[in-house]
Formats: sequence, structure tokens, C-alpha cells
Amino acid sequence: MFSTSIATVSLSGTLEEKLQAIAAAGFSGVEIFENDFLAYPGTPREVRRMAGDLGLDIVCYQPFRDFEGLPEPQRARALERARRKFGLMQELGTDLLLVCSSVSPLAQGGIVRAADDLRALGDIAAGMGLRVGFEALAWGRHISDYRDAWEVVRRADHPAIGLILDSFHTLARALPVEPIAAIPGERIFLVQLSDAPKLSLDILSWSRHFRCFPGQGGLDLAAFTQAVAATGYDGPLSLEIFNDQFRAGSAGRVATDGLRSLIQLADHVAPSLYPVPETIDRLPPATPCHGLAFIEFAVDEATAGALRRLFAGMGFVKTGQHRSKAVERWMQGEINLIVNTEGKGFAHAHSITHGPGVCAIGLNVENAATAMARAERLKAQSFHQPVGPGELDIPAIRGVGGSLIYFVEPAGRAGAVWQHDFVAVAGDPPATNLTRIDHIAQSMHYDEMLSWLLFYTAIFDFERHGWQDIADPGGLIQSQAVEAADGGTRFVLNASMAARTLSARFLSEFFGSGVQHMAFACNDIFATVAAMRAAGVGLLDVPDNYYDDLAARYDFAPGLLARLRDNRILYDRDGEAEFFQVFTHVFAERFFFEIVERRGYGGYGAVNAAIRLMAQAREVRPVEIPR
Ligand code: MG
Ligand code: MG
Repeated sequence: MFSTSIATVSLSGTLEEKLQAIAAAGFSGVEIFENDFLAYPGTPREVRRMAGDLGLDIVCYQPFRDFEGLPEPQRARALERARRKFGLMQELGTDLLLVCSSVSPLAQGGIVRAADDLRALGDIAAGMGLRVGFEALAWGRHISDYRDAWEVVRRADHPAIGLILDSFHTLARALPVEPIAAIPGERIFLVQLSDAPKLSLDILSWSRHFRCFPGQGGLDLAAFTQAVAATGYDGPLSLEIFNDQFRAGSAGRVATDGLRSLIQLADHVAPSLYPVPETIDRLPPATPCHGLAFIEFAVDEATAGALRRLFAGMGFVKTGQHRSKAVERWMQGEINLIVNTEGKGFAHAHSITHGPGVCAIGLNVENAATAMARAERLKAQSFHQPVGPGELDIPAIRGVGGSLIYFVEPAGRAGAVWQHDFVAVAGDPPATNLTRIDHIAQSMHYDEMLSWLLFYTAIFDFERHGWQDIADPGGLIQSQAVEAADGGTRFVLNASMAARTLSARFLSEFFGSGVQHMAFACNDIFATVAAMRAAGVGLLDVPDNYYDDLAARYDFAPGLLARLRDNRILYDRDGEAEFFQVFTHVFAERFFFEIVERRGYGGYGAVNAAIRLMAQAREVRPVEIPR
């Protein structure tokens, strides 16, 4: 199997902080980026000792620029410059120097000339017990294609000279990856990996600011890594990411994300690598998710009354009381809401930190043990808290903002939680308007977005859907949906860099990332809205101008537009598919509910999001609670 490594340039912080985060995440190797070393106030031997104490192998020192193709006297000077770096590397305790293809205007072209230069460099390196890897930069002056770099290495024909492959420089230029498989694995000295979103940007800016971990972007890292594997290469897979968000984010979180992305990628490639899959320690498969089992709200007793009245106004009924805790079950259709007012434990700590809000969600999974095993292998944090006698211990991991995700097997032991832990409460049956949880929208800091995206897509059977930029009156919000293969389990991740967006205000009110809104599905939006209004639930107002615009955009069946306008229902259409949505006011300045009716529609009403955000910004006032 490959070993794992990451370049120090990928993370924020000082060199010490980077190395500690890299070791703590569980990498075995590290590439020392020259600027990180130059900015370090200690000696190379101290860096070597620090890495050694942390159990990290320094796999390479990088980059060494503008070497090949130079005329004299620049050529001799470049060799002298390399000799000094080699001396430094001996002290650092690494044997590999990364030389990237030249961008110097002085450099002259020609494979033979470049090969001669590298052979001369190889003689010096070999004399000092070191090696040199040659990498084609996508914007190199004469060499910008790994196939040319390989030809240079092949012609240099020197044991101390090998090839360095970089997925970005290959895939960003849409170079074919199949020829990689023909390169002998022992001639490849290092493989660097990064993904990137598909952007139409000059390749240098794209590379310097938008690289991301495998699985976070749109490049085919699996095909690249598969081709690498076919060469027999078994050295480090090293992440080399230049990304402004990563360099602004927490080094610990980014390092953990990096390892998570490598574990997932290697597992993806493994079947083609090893003919006998049962001999490898494969990841447990992503267990299918089938909707949300429950949403748990942590609130203090003072706020709980208002939340209960809002639930009742929406047609929910309290159907269960926990045997040993101040925890209630509210139900309607397939929706379970839990109100937790315990004075101790996880929910209480959550409510003290964040105020009223969602502290946990339950995910229906086919196999909770498999889900937990995969999550733990992918470095998720598991969670346990004491349970009362006879109560079920449901496996859980930490999700967005430290909230919990429980794995519930509807047909298995963990599905028996309602019978085991709750006593049924007699009363009227719930309303029948709301049928199921449609989606959960989580707000997060901009620099966390890629992290949680990887979390959902690596650990669960979720795929990304439709990236959106949404205009909030306070600035832009970026929105990314992730949906389970069954289409019935959906999360929407929202992030904003502007401080005045509703998303950003949520983050400051809530003291961190978390659930900002929950959407419930219904089969008849008009009946549902009528019932909720009759029960005194206030809904977000929508300006008349919106309906005038709808009239201009679409033909409506007679009377439909008037009913939308009278009920202040937002509408979207996609071909024949139709979508209806309304929103409650914001509860306790933190979260709100959305009611949707889908008629064959798969999206989230992105065209209406700006209208909704504008209306919410105008209406920031307390929720109307039924008395
Ligand atoms: Mg590189
Ligand atoms: Mg929504």
C-alpha cells in the first residue's frame, strides 16, 4: 500500500504547528516547503529532530526552481545553488529534492540539453547520497507535460534522477493519464496529489489558490491514481495543496481532512491494484442512508414552551416521554422531533454554548455498525454518553459544529429506541399534513465548507448536487447540496464570507456552525398552510412584486397564481416539475422551518432564495407563537 504524506504549504500556522497537526492526523511523511523552513528560527537539525520525535519521515525538500536549460555562466551557478541545498538536505535528513521545470526566460529548450543538465545534477546528488525528482509545471517554459519530463528523466539515465508526478499539473491541462501506466514505478520518486474545482481561470491562479483535497473538487483523481498504481509505484502519495481557505483554517482540521481524502482515494483505487481484495484492509462500504430518523432540539425550559407551541401549531403532537430524562418525542407523519430540556449531559452543554438549537440528528442507516466502522476509519470522532438502565446506546459521531449524528437502524436494534427509551403519551393524533423531513440546511464558516463536504461524501453514500451562489442582502452565500443515493436524505451546506448575510449572522448568534433551517415535506401545500395559519403560526411574508414576476415568467392554470399570492407561497418550475415552499419566522433568532411540496422537482428553489433572504432580512423580528 502507499504511504501518506502532505506538504507543509498545505496548512496554516508555524512549521512547529504544521508538523504537530500532520503527525496528530496520522500521516507518516511530510514535504518541507522551503518558505516554511526559511521562516523557522531554528537549525535544519532541529527540524529533523522535531519531525523525528513526531514520527514523521521528511519525504522531500521543495521546490528547486529554474534549473534546466540555462546557458553558462547561469548553469554553473544553478549547480552551485543545488549543491548548497543538498548540504541543507543532509542536515534535514531527507534524500529527495523536488526540481520543477523552469519558467526562466533564460532557459533554452531541448530534451537532450535538459537531460544533460539533470545528469550533471544527478552526479552531484549521488556523491552526497541524495536523489532528485523532476516535475513538469503546467506553466513550465519548455517542459509543461509529464511525458516530456519523463523523457528528460529517461534520457538522463541516472540512478539519482527520477520523475515526480503531480495530479494537478496533469489533470488541469487535461493531459491523458493512461501513458503514466507505462512508466516504470521505480523511476517515479514521488507522487503529489491535489484536486481542484472546475474553473475557467488562468492555470497559475487556479493552482495557487483553488487546489483542494481529492474528492473536494472536480478532477478525476481516481483515474490518475489508478494509472500511478499500475506502474508498481509504492512510495508516498503526498498532498500538495495551495488553497487560501486551508491556509486560513485550523491546521488540525485541514490535516485530518487531508488524511480522510487519501484513505478514501486509496480505497477507491485498491480493487484495481490488488487482485485479491480480501487480503487488504479495505474500508467498510458506505452504508445506504434512508432519511432522517429524528431531529433533536436542545432548549432550556423557558424556551421549550414556545417551541412546543410552534410544533403544535404545525400539527405535531407529543407522543412520548423519555423514561429517565426530560426528553419528549413529537410526531407527525414520518417526522420525529425531540425536545431535550435536560439540565445535564450533551444537550444541556449544547444549549448553554449555542442557545436553543438542533444538537443532534438521527440518520436511518441500513447497518449502524458498518456506518460507525467506516466513520471511525475515516477519522470521524465517535461520541458516547452514559445511558440509563435498559436504555439503548445508539452509536454516534460528531457532525457540523460539534452536533451529533446518530446511526439508527429502523429495522434493527437501534430502531427500537422509541419502545425502549420512551413511554407513550395518550392524546389526540397528530395532523397528517407534514409527511417527512425533506432536507436540513446547515450554516458554516466559509473555510469549513470543503471540510464538511468531504465529511458527508466520504463517510456516507452522499453525492454533491448543484453548487449555487445565492445573493443575500448582506453579501453572497455559497450553497452546496449533498444527497444520499436514495434521493430522500438531503443536506444543504451554506457558507458566507460576508459578515452581514443571514448565514453569517446565524453563525455569530449561534456561536458556530449548525442547523439553520429544516424543511418538511407535505402533499398539499395549500391545506398545510391553511391549517398552520389557522393554528396561529406566522409565515414569512412575500412581496406582491414577486407574484407579478411569476405571472410574467410562467403560464398558470386558472386561479393558481391567485392562490399562491393569497397564501404567500413561493414557487418554482423545472420543465413539468413544480415546487412550492413557505417559511416560518425565525425562532429565537436562530433557526426556522420550511414547508415544501415537490411535484417531481429535485432542487431547492434556488431562484427564490434571494427573495426569501430579502424578506427575512426585512422581517428580523420574533416568531409569532400560537397562544
Ligand atoms: Mg507539485
Ligand atoms: Mg431550504
